[in-house]
Amino acid sequence: MAAAVAPAVERAAAGIKNQAVLDFLRKPKMLLIGGKWTPAKSGKTFETINPANEEVLALVAEGGKADVDEAVKAARKAFEESRWPRLNPHQRARMLYKIAELIEQHADELAEIETLDNGKAVTQARAIDVAGAAETFRYYAGWCSKIYGETNPSDPSMFNYTLREPVGVCGQIIPWNFPLLMACWKIAPALACGNTVILKPAEQTPLSALRLGELAQEAGLPDGVLNIITGFGPGAGSSIAEHPEIDKVAFTGSTEVGRLILQASTGNLKRVSLELGGKSPNIIFTDADLGSAVPTAMMGVFYNTGQVCAAGTRIFVQQGKYDEFVDQLTKFSAGMTVGNPLDPATKMGPVVSKEQFDRVRNYVEIGKREGAKLTTGGEAAADRGYFIKPTIFADVNNNMRIAQEEIFGPVAAAIPFKDENDAVLQGNDTTYGLAAAVWTRDIARAHKVARALKAGTVWINTYGAIDPISPFGGYKQSGFGRELGKHSIELYTQIKSVYVKL
Ligand code: NAP
Ligand code: MG
Repeated sequence: MAAAVAPAVERAAAGIKNQAVLDFLRKPKMLLIGGKWTPAKSGKTFETINPANEEVLALVAEGGKADVDEAVKAARKAFEESRWPRLNPHQRARMLYKIAELIEQHADELAEIETLDNGKAVTQARAIDVAGAAETFRYYAGWCSKIYGETNPSDPSMFNYTLREPVGVCGQIIPWNFPLLMACWKIAPALACGNTVILKPAEQTPLSALRLGELAQEAGLPDGVLNIITGFGPGAGSSIAEHPEIDKVAFTGSTEVGRLILQASTGNLKRVSLELGGKSPNIIFTDADLGSAVPTAMMGVFYNTGQVCAAGTRIFVQQGKYDEFVDQLTKFSAGMTVGNPLDPATKMGPVVSKEQFDRVRNYVEIGKREGAKLTTGGEAAADRGYFIKPTIFADVNNNMRIAQEEIFGPVAAAIPFKDENDAVLQGNDTTYGLAAAVWTRDIARAHKVARALKAGTVWINTYGAIDPISPFGGYKQSGFGRELGKHSIELYTQIKSVYVKL
């Protein structure tokens, strides 16, 4: 429990360019329930830290079960009584477009908030997280007026049609790696379909979601349609997962917590969608364009300091080009600019927390003990802040722990393979199945391998492309349900069949 002393905001946020960020940080960080910002019923707060300098950025309300209960009441009221689900879809769309516009108007400020709280490079926060957040709202704004039912050819004495209706009150629990973007992936489709929402951001990165809540209010979202409960997993998160009055829960995070969410959902059989971890294979054949494959593989694993569920952490390179590839990858990676994430030249900031820092460094030790060859990195990159150098292990065997367990940090495992069959066998030899990539100039092989890989997303001759138009989600223990595209509309609606006697 943090002592309720106001943090030294100027020191914690040193180097920011937007005064609006300081103004935001100085305000109390409360829960958004029924359109009002309120402290936690317990009065408790917790600290959120800048991982680049280990300073406290803000004290944030620690919501618990009692606060979730209030939020559920507000969301239920907004769903049952307010006109949100029954609002003219064009008007609902207008509000979502307005949120997109406000995100863009405040893009620099949001990017700095994200960088302060999470540690990600600010240029990337601006170009990917914030731009993607606005794009996601805009994409789903378009859906509001395009959610159709159908008429069905039943008996001539009968007229049958279907209505696609919202699910109701939705709980959404998100992780710390893309805090604003994950909030938008969850909130935008839920609202487009007419649901009301209770969002729980990750305890490490609550700030951008709170700013988004303010912007949603400014856009005119009715009270209770979007509620935000900051707090911890056990407490705020678990109360959402098990709440009898929540109709659906959408979760992104670890496979371990995904299991708990699913177990907690059985009480009222709420709908569940899970987007969990990954250990994605990036497969490079000898005929690939190495000039593109090497830097793309590097960003595929080190982007966002390796804290990406779809990171290409297992780099499979065909024998014949393996040594050359590893040499080039090592050289490029050793030259990556790691440092102050507010500096526009920085490519990689710190990992998000002390816990994550320790976890990643522990995996480096595990890799060494397992006999993998460390070609670069492995150590801390600064005295202060949670910086770790880009780390590459070569001569990895796919059975090693560093090839099987999600590290969620800047650690790559380079693994050789013989032929197409071997690549697919090793690539699929994991409990996860979130993403995969294949690099080859042979078009038939590219498509054959893409089909054979058990993953929810496959990239050919690229890595990491994501667009709100296309579904994202996992095979195997990477979860179930697909977010983005029209598939989120399916997650957030249910179908009613209506028979009319003629
Ligand atoms: P996590 O525990 O799965 O956190 C994800 C979200 O779930 C957070 O909002 C968390 O709240 C919440 N949560 C935790 N326990 C809960 C519970 N019992 N009931 C309901 N909600 C709960 O992930 P983490 O601990 O931050 O990171 C651990 C590992 O998970 C990472 O090292 C990485 O391997 C993986 N991870 C994967 C993704 C992904 O996108 N697939 C994202 C992040 C992490 P708190 O923040 O308060 O814990
Ligand atoms: Mg956790």
